[in-house]
Amino acid sequence: MKQTCMSCKFYKIDDELSGYCRVEKNKDKNDTVQREMVRQDHSCRKWIDCGQQYYIRLGWIKAHVKKKRNSADR
Ligand code: SF4
Repeated sequence: MKQTCMSCKFYKIDDELSGYCRVEKNKDKNDTVQREMVRQDHSCRKWIDCGQQYYIRLGWIKAHVKKKRNSADR
């Protein structure tokens, strides 16, 4: 598996191409840090394997794309 945001523990998916990096937010207990927007194919040195979450995200993206296509066909 490639070490990208898509397979990282700190990634929070937003749409089929991008999401938020929560690495800084997790450090700040007062919740004052803005989440950084990142593309799913991005990566950095703080990457940590998200395990099964990767496949859950892939499933979410597939369903999201299918739903968008269906609503565009109407
Ligand atoms: S920017 Fe780094 S820490 Fe944040 S989600 Fe991507 S790989 Fe993970």
